[in-house]
Amino acid sequence: MARQLDYKDHRRELDENRYVYAVVSRRARGLSIGVNLNPDKACNFDCPYCQVDRTIPGGPSRVDVPNLAEELGDLLRRATRDLWTAPPFDTVAPELRRVADVAFAGDGEPTTPAEFPAAAHAAREARDLLAPGVPLRLLTNATLLHKDRVRAALAEFDELWCKLDAGTEAYFHAVDGTRLPFQRILDNLLLVARERPIVIQSLFLTLDGVGPDDAEIRAWVDRLSELVAQGGCIDHVQVYTVARTPADPRCRPLDAKGLEAIAAAARDAGLAAAVYA
Ligand code: SF4
Repeated sequence: MARQLDYKDHRRELDENRYVYAVVSRRARGLSIGVNLNPDKACNFDCPYCQVDRTIPGGPSRVDVPNLAEELGDLLRRATRDLWTAPPFDTVAPELRRVADVAFAGDGEPTTPAEFPAAAHAAREARDLLAPGVPLRLLTNATLLHKDRVRAALAEFDELWCKLDAGTEAYFHAVDGTRLPFQRILDNLLLVARERPIVIQSLFLTLDGVGPDDAEIRAWVDRLSELVAQGGCIDHVQVYTVARTPADPRCRPLDAKGLEAIAAAARDAGLAAAVYA
């Protein structure tokens, strides 16, 4: 019997595609059509929990936007025709047989390539034509949101889902594997959250068996509260953990109780928070 395609299974079918893939997303609660602008697997973060297998080399870094638009259009058309009768999509649970979103995510930071604005515009056009009502989302680590070319393109998206995995500089460097200044992330989040509501995505985990301590969680809540106090709008916070095999075996999922306690701390500060264990 074919394995049922579910939350844990992020096999990227449609292997012939270079940019567009489909996964059943636990957070989106349906089929998430992913747009990968980083087939070269380049990222300006090096999160130890990253699930991208960089032992296998990526492809070229230049993004062929017409090709991307064609792949996206084809998949959106299939979703209204025969997609759910073809393997492996015929194994998706009936309640998840819906296109939940089109999400720029993939194997690196999607705002990095020079073609990001053109790709965002092409995706917006395809979505408007073939899947009106399906949200177009950008999943970003927020490192480049201050760049003019990136900021201008944000208008193409319905929702911005921005990563914030830490409350302190030291923990940020540990869990996101970067030397970029933490303040840049905070400044960029404030920049966009003053203009429109953003979703905060926060992954918490255990590293060498140790989860974030109370001081780190307090600091994380403080950073979120400061964003709001300075005029930023946070739609809600998503607290989640490692779901699949990470790059670094020291990373393990934080248990549901730990995740719930973190979400409760965010709620105590007046934020809406949801847990995805
Ligand atoms: S930002 Fe995303 S793609 Fe980049 S290293 Fe972290 S988890 Fe991987």
